[in-house]
Amino acid sequence: MMKRQIAFFLLACSFAAAFLTGCAEKEQASGTSFHMDTFVSLRAYGDGARALIDACEKRLTELEKCLSATIEGSDVSRLNSANGEWISLGDDAFCVLKASLEAAELTDGAFDLTVAAAMKAWDGMSGETLPSEYELEKIRPLVDFREVELDEERKMARLGAGQSIDFGAIAKGYAADELNALYNEYGCTGIIDLGGSIYAVGAREGSEPWRIAVQDPRGDGYKETLELVSCAAVTSGDYQRFFERDGVRYHHIIDPKTLCPARSGIASVTVIGKNSMLADAYATAMFVMGAEKAVEFAEKNAVCALIIEDDGTEIWVNG
Ligand code: ADP
Ligand code: MG
Repeated sequence: MMKRQIAFFLLACSFAAAFLTGCAEKEQASGTSFHMDTFVSLRAYGDGARALIDACEKRLTELEKCLSATIEGSDVSRLNSANGEWISLGDDAFCVLKASLEAAELTDGAFDLTVAAAMKAWDGMSGETLPSEYELEKIRPLVDFREVELDEERKMARLGAGQSIDFGAIAKGYAADELNALYNEYGCTGIIDLGGSIYAVGAREGSEPWRIAVQDPRGDGYKETLELVSCAAVTSGDYQRFFERDGVRYHHIIDPKTLCPARSGIASVTVIGKNSMLADAYATAMFVMGAEKAVEFAEKNAVCALIIEDDGTEIWVNG
């Protein structure tokens, strides 16, 4: 299922203003592609911008090859088909797996990479299948991140018998961090946009912040404009990948407790921070938690977030 629309969109005026304020003399480059089931849009400013965009594309392809659950031979696919045996992981998969387990622990299982079994029961939220209570009960023992074991020394991991994992709620965040590192290496500024995961690298000409719009989850416009410098903003919402049946919206964020799309009263959560991988994991987890618990979580862990509830109410935490 393809992402219906990009969660954030850059205000056109950000770019127009950037051009007008002297960017014209600087090298600039952009690129669009499709990776990790998402439209990717990159803009870079500074010497070497063209080469940077090419390097980013190469890195994205590399990341997808190890983190995708649908590419045969990826680290994730090898883990999923290992029948509980130990598997050696590359650096990227190991890093994302370790962070996923830590995020799962910290969010008390609201983020759980083993929901892959439930996603399968829902046929990837294609709208083809509504699993029965019985089917969900059958897979319940498979959804438990505590069954996943990590051997830090040997960079190996193993899943519980029958389990499978999916980095869908964290991989784009990791990819945005990796591309941000490349931008910094090249000394370029710009915007990395991986669907719901945005990284604003550096500042615009004249140290002006980048302006990023947060989409209205229940309309066509936007709810807020974020001003970001060297910072990520990641949104999880129920309005991008979903289907409706008998007036009920079935979306792609699963509550690991019910194994069904989370019904928490939240329409979207945007997490803002330097670490886009964690922002991605926390945005998904906070969506599952519901507003009250999400606010508590964000306050306790110094997470900056904008929660938009079903009725449009906006809640800022540490904003
Ligand atoms: P998006 O994919 O739109 O960026 P998320 O970051 O919230 O949105 O990730 C949702 C994806 O992550 C789903 O498609 C599914 O593969 C997986 N997923 C769904 N629910 C959870 C959950 N509670 N914990 C971890 N991963 C999840
Ligand atoms: Mg996420």
